[in-house]
Amino acid sequence: MTAPDSYRHRGQRRTLVRELRSKGIADERVLTALEAVPRHFFFEPAFEAHAYQDKAFPIGEGQTISQPYTVAFQTQLLDVEAGHHVLEVGTGSGYQCAVLLQLTALVSSIEINPVLFERTRERLASLGAGHAGLYCGDGSLGLPARAPFDRILVTAGAPALPPALLRQLSLGGKLVIPVGDAQLQRMVRITREGPEAFVREEFTDFRFVPLLGADGWGR
Ligand code: SAM
Repeated sequence: MTAPDSYRHRGQRRTLVRELRSKGIADERVLTALEAVPRHFFFEPAFEAHAYQDKAFPIGEGQTISQPYTVAFQTQLLDVEAGHHVLEVGTGSGYQCAVLLQLTALVSSIEINPVLFERTRERLASLGAGHAGLYCGDGSLGLPARAPFDRILVTAGAPALPPALLRQLSLGGKLVIPVGDAQLQRMVRITREGPEAFVREEFTDFRFVPLLGADGWGR
């Protein structure tokens, strides 16, 4: 049973947000979103007491809920505005999805693992956490039925830029994705400036679980 959100949890979130600010996260909309979402709702009961540490934790199926700093860093790079249609690849626990829903009402999220997909679908429904469109499938191929997207966020490490994700970006759209080998990935942001014009920016290194699937590391 997940503990209800309490005064103590809200205090822990304020402390976490101060820590993220001191680590360089400056976008107040992003910080406000992280302060609003009860991260402990997205934890396995065994780890719930650690939910407000700036650390990744296991969520089952060999996967993790990303570190709050990573969630904040990626969300800041994504630069979401109200009304944007966002695709998240790698729903996992649903935490990042709930953070995105604080910024725009139009979020689609795709998860390849059917066990996590079912668990998270029930969790987000029971939280009444907005109206994300949740899908089970290979997000390395994007979500063609719902494209184009103003923003695409990939929360697993890719070996290269998945071509389908580039094609599914709207003009002016941005893709934030960690790209590298199995050990370390560079955070990359792609902006689509024209039908065939993509501008690439690179940021710091992170360590993610692998992006599986046809245009990831395979099954
Ligand atoms: N965003 C998640 C959260 O807030 O909990 C953290 C995601 S975890 C670091 C990465 C997730 O990506 C895992 O749940 C994994 O099963 C999923 N994944 C890996 N490859 C995928 C793919 N090709 N399509 C969709 N999901 C994928």
